[in-house]
Amino acid sequence: MKSINKGYINGAFVTLHGTETFNLISPTNHEQIGVVTLGDEIDVQQAVAAAKEAFASFSKSSIAARIQLLKNLQDAVSKREKELVEVMIQEYGGTRQFCTMSTQFAIASFGNMIETLEAFEFQRKAGNTLVQLTPVGVVGIITPWNASNSFICGKVGTAIAAGCTVVVKPSEMSALQTQLLVECFHEAGLPKGLFNVVNGLGNIVGTAITNHPDIAKISFTGSTVTGKLIAKSAVDTVKRVTLELGGKSPNIILDDADFEKAIPMAVFGAYMNSGQACVAPTRLLVPKAKLAQVNQLAKAAVEQVVVGNPTNAATNVGPMVSNKQFERVQSYIQIGLQEGATLLAGGLGKPAGLEDGNFVKATIFTNVSNDMRIAREEIFGPVLSIIPYENEEDAISIANDTTYGLAAYITSSDERRALRVASQIDAGRVCVNGFKHDPLAPFGGFKQSGLGREFGAYGLEEYLEPKSILL
Ligand code: NDP
Repeated sequence: MKSINKGYINGAFVTLHGTETFNLISPTNHEQIGVVTLGDEIDVQQAVAAAKEAFASFSKSSIAARIQLLKNLQDAVSKREKELVEVMIQEYGGTRQFCTMSTQFAIASFGNMIETLEAFEFQRKAGNTLVQLTPVGVVGIITPWNASNSFICGKVGTAIAAGCTVVVKPSEMSALQTQLLVECFHEAGLPKGLFNVVNGLGNIVGTAITNHPDIAKISFTGSTVTGKLIAKSAVDTVKRVTLELGGKSPNIILDDADFEKAIPMAVFGAYMNSGQACVAPTRLLVPKAKLAQVNQLAKAAVEQVVVGNPTNAATNVGPMVSNKQFERVQSYIQIGLQEGATLLAGGLGKPAGLEDGNFVKATIFTNVSNDMRIAREEIFGPVLSIIPYENEEDAISIANDTTYGLAAYITSSDERRALRVASQIDAGRVCVNGFKHDPLAPFGGFKQSGLGREFGAYGLEEYLEPKSILL
């Protein structure tokens, strides 16, 4: 059992002022695998002071120096790639396939930011005026548990590219993963105080970061509920905020699609990251006339989904991160039954033989109406809702009838038609014919899925203030 009892402040692993502890429980078998000491407001103050001091010089660093740091980080994290994958599987319960991809994504984020930085113009002209893009200041980074290290690498890499310094508050449920990553960052030889980490609870450490007057910006990934709380508190000191929040993404299968291919892909896609993914396509919109065929294909596909021990390479759905998350998903399955949706697969309870962990049956509801709670609220587990539509216009209307707008997916044999539909969908990312990712394209949500963008030049601009110099 591992004990994580230090924070990372001013370039060193330090004993925290906070003394409370949090037990790290394996989602796979409920054994205790570690314990983490939680920081408090005093620890946040020390971390912010270190970051503020470092900002004075780092904000003036050259682009070449920042690129070198990003290269060092990439090398240091790459060296421990295998360990990072294993600890993520152990602590988070993510499948081997997902944790491998997520770690590769984390490592690649440094290279992507180098590419962005090399082409980025920090000095521009607007009218007759010189516009300098200057680093915003100390950034508070608050992350969730569902791809913890990948979020930290992406956000810290962007902050460094901008010339900012950071204080990170990860989810305490990711403490083992964070510890390994921080060791990599320490190895990379960053200037003291540039990167600081305080483990702790959201309502203590997170709130202290959000309220701190010396923090200029918050970059947050997490639930919409918490994002709103952060935005409200941040306004008192007029902090800049980037919020990456929840989603309830529609997956529109147009009537000209190859259903034999599209439906199995939709089912497996809905279970990406065991369903604990903000971009998961959890609302499958299909033509009403083809519902019977879709049900049959979806049922056949779900029988191929392997729910089980995340260490096995063949597993598609691992356990939920915590018992609380397991209970939350169960409650939504119960709600779906009460609302009168037709249960096509899965349902309440744990799959046979997997009673020791937080395992949920791969579940599909069909004949779902878009006003049901299972179609409107983010479940964050392996639960797919199949929603029939009348025609293309109706599909677009259902897709947009949500408070969220993070991602959407469209499948059609006619790319021009798919593009026409895509341009009418209110979402920050619309993927045509497959689940795609472009690390240089802006990522973020419309409506209550977020504020601002991450990745590439759009993401970098969020960490910069335009200063107009009128000569
Ligand atoms: P939460 O919003 O509960 O927590 C996210 C982080 O915020 C945690 O570190 C948490 O700390 C912290 N936090 C909680 N309360 C506060 C507060 N009052 N002030 C400051 N910080 C606080 O989300 P989850 O960890 O449960 O993650 C799941 C959610 O994240 C889902 O809704 C999902 O959609 C969203 N998400 C969004 C993504 C996107 O890019 N749009 C990507 C991935 C996930 P603590 O752990 O102590 O509660």
